[in-house]
Amino acid sequence: MNETSVAADLSVCARCATMQRTCCQRAEILVTEGDIERIAAHTGRNDFWERRVPLDPAYLEPDDDDPNWQRYTTASDGTRRLLERRVDGDCTFLGARGCELELDVRPLVCRIYPYSYTEQGLDGLDDEYCPRAALSPDDRPMSELLEIPESVAETWRARLYEELRHGDA
Ligand code: SF4
Ligand code: SF4
Repeated sequence: MNETSVAADLSVCARCATMQRTCCQRAEILVTEGDIERIAAHTGRNDFWERRVPLDPAYLEPDDDDPNWQRYTTASDGTRRLLERRVDGDCTFLGARGCELELDVRPLVCRIYPYSYTEQGLDGLDDEYCPRAALSPDDRPMSELLEIPESVAETWRARLYEELRHGDA
């Protein structure tokens, strides 16, 4: 099997990992109280998250399109509930074959990505981490490549805000 056919056999996220550091190696992942309960119940651990100020100050910039986001996610001292990362920045749940958490246990923000969204609904695709042009040279939509239908992402988005509205920042 040559290199091209290997790449064709890989999932889009596995292909992405051969090209760059992925979202799972760069993003600071917010977890809701519901995420923490689900992951703790699944893994039997509670040491996978911490409360801290995001290292990237861009995370704390206000977003006029989503005015409640900071209030829902960030305590008055600037800290958030975030997944722990290894020294090199990788998420501690990132294994050799991708995320080690089953989809229905994964943090909601991980499930939704790369859709972008506000409290009002989905509003497109985020390209901060996803190299879309390289991953989809024939312009196939990322939603199709990632096999995440919009309707499913919308369900997760609604649940994320539901949990944020009912929890403490
Ligand atoms: S979601 Fe996007 S950035 Fe993250 S691993 Fe998949 S293709 Fe790469
Ligand atoms: S929990 Fe899974 S999907 Fe989310 S950042 Fe970690 S490895 Fe990636």
